[in-house]
Amino acid sequence: MPTTMTRLCVFCGAADGNRHSYRAGAERLGTEMAKRGITLIYGGGSLGLMGGVADAVLQHGGQVTGVITTQLVAKEVAHKSLSKLHVVETMHQRKKMMADMADGFITLPGGLGTLDEFFEILAWAQLGIHAKPVGVLNIDGYFDGLLKFVEQMNVDGFLRINLREALRIDDDPARLIEAMSKHTPAKISPLRADVNPV
Ligand code: AMP
Repeated sequence: MPTTMTRLCVFCGAADGNRHSYRAGAERLGTEMAKRGITLIYGGGSLGLMGGVADAVLQHGGQVTGVITTQLVAKEVAHKSLSKLHVVETMHQRKKMMADMADGFITLPGGLGTLDEFFEILAWAQLGIHAKPVGVLNIDGYFDGLLKFVEQMNVDGFLRINLREALRIDDDPARLIEAMSKHTPAKISPLRADVNPV
C-alpha cells in the first residue's frame, strides 16, 4: 500500500559544503515539501544545509519541527523561528524522536553525522524496526562513491534487504518525494548459516 507522507525527516550537513549546488538543492527540497504540505522533521539547527532546508520550508509557508540536544543548542545554533523545537538530553533520544515522528527519511549531502543517521535508518529498515521509505537526494553525484560501496555490500553478500526496494535515489526533489510516496516495504531475507563462501 502506498505511504501517506505528511512528515518527512531530512538528514543533512550542519555545514553548506563547498558547492553552491548543495545549498540550492536543500532549498529546492524544502520548497517542494512546503508546496505539498509536508512537515519537515530535522535536527533543529540553523547552520549549513540543515538551516537551508528549514528556512526554505518556512519561507514557503510550511511547518518545521526541530529536535536538538541541550548540548547542541549553542553549538549547532538552534533555529529560532521553527514551528516547534524539542530539546532533549541525548543524541539517541534525538534520533529516536525524529524517527518516530517521520513518515519517511531523505538524506542530503553532509558529513559524519548525516551518514550516521542515514545508515542507522537503513539498518533499522533491514531489521524490520520500521517500514518507512528511505531516500537519497544525490545532488551533483555527491553520494555516487558511497552508493557504489553499498552495492558492493550487496554483491559480497552482506545485505539482507533488496536495495532497489529499500532505497530511492534521485537528484530531483519532486521526483524523489513522488517515488517515496509510492513506497512499499522492502523484502528482508533471513540470516542463513548454510551459504558456502567462494
Ligand atoms: P554533519 O553531517 O556531521 O554535519 O552532522 C549533521 C547532523 O547530524 C548534526 O545535527 C549532528 O548533530 C547530527 N548527528 C547525528 N548523529 C551524529 C553522530 N553520531 N556524530 C556526529 N553528528 C551526529
